[in-house]
Amino acid sequence: MNDTVPRPAPWVSIVIPVFNEEAVLPLLLPRLRAVMDALPGGAEAWFVDDGSRDATAALIEQAHGEDARIKLVQLSRNFGHPAAITAGLDSAQGDAVVLMDADLQDPPELIPEMVELYRRGFDVVQAQRSSREEESVFKRVTAWAFYRIMGRLTKNEIEANVGEFRLMSRAVVAALGQLRERHRLVRGLVSWVGFSHTTIGFVRPGRAAGETKYPLMKMLRLSADGLTSFSTAPLRMASFVGVCGLLAGLGYAGYAVYVRFWLNKAVVGWTSLVIINIFFSSIVLLCLGLVGEYVGRIFEEVKRRPLYLVRRKIDGVPTAAEGSGPQPRGRTSGL
Ligand code: UDP
Ligand code: MG
Repeated sequence: MNDTVPRPAPWVSIVIPVFNEEAVLPLLLPRLRAVMDALPGGAEAWFVDDGSRDATAALIEQAHGEDARIKLVQLSRNFGHPAAITAGLDSAQGDAVVLMDADLQDPPELIPEMVELYRRGFDVVQAQRSSREEESVFKRVTAWAFYRIMGRLTKNEIEANVGEFRLMSRAVVAALGQLRERHRLVRGLVSWVGFSHTTIGFVRPGRAAGETKYPLMKMLRLSADGLTSFSTAPLRMASFVGVCGLLAGLGYAGYAVYVRFWLNKAVVGWTSLVIINIFFSSIVLLCLGLVGEYVGRIFEEVKRRPLYLVRRKIDGVPTAAEGSGPQPRGRTSGL
């Protein structure tokens, strides 16, 4: 995929969703600004305040006063991490956009290396955690289970141990902008849009300050969104159970007939009741699974994802894939 000449130094937008992060901002801002200073093509930082109830917005406003490259989108309430990311991506104007968490678990010092890979022609540069040592055993176990189940059910669309820390080219951001589905796992969508991907490894440090904003329930909801928006396997399970029930039922029906006619021990009416019961419950489950298949397909349609996305067009007009600003909408979608 690395077929392009080196790209010019991009103007980088850094998108950071923040939810009650007043404790971490004073640590993050100086490090972020130092990294922004070192980027040759210039940079802006978009903070998305996801309905914080502490001094988060005020701190960012103050930072904007000192450094106009620091910008703020304030949401009307807490819409959740994925929605905040989307708000940030919609605001960002850069040729390349970096997504990161505010809590310094995603070290901003990695950004120049990501930009370097972008200039070599990659459209997505993901940061993959090579170690989770600083995280709790519970978090590591649940994350492991989540990636295992996702890997099984979605045919590995989502790489293990990749969070939201990544750089994306303007073309990828424009593509993501077209996926407006409600329940979103952003890393899954990024994998779905395609383009050329590469990964850099890093050791993920612990949260620099403050508490996690992902308590168990939120984590579970994110996992459920991930599963149901990338797989219809759970729906198919009903058919599977139905077929198993039918086979087991037929076996048992054979036994019931045997008891009735060969052993002649059955209570009158027992045989037919057992057979009817097993048979019809299996049929009901089977039909339920069948309906599930259709519901699954309707669900896929209702999401209205474009059928494909064009990476490049050779017609003399530079496209966003070559790093030249927002892509005109009509040129990117092909239905
Ligand atoms: N976050 C957000 N809205 C939410 C929850 C979290 O914008 O409803 C932000 C949070 O401020 C942080 C990032 O998402 O910048 C990741 O959250 P956190 O570090 O708490 O998650 P963890 O690393 O514990 O999974
Ligand atoms: Mg964190």
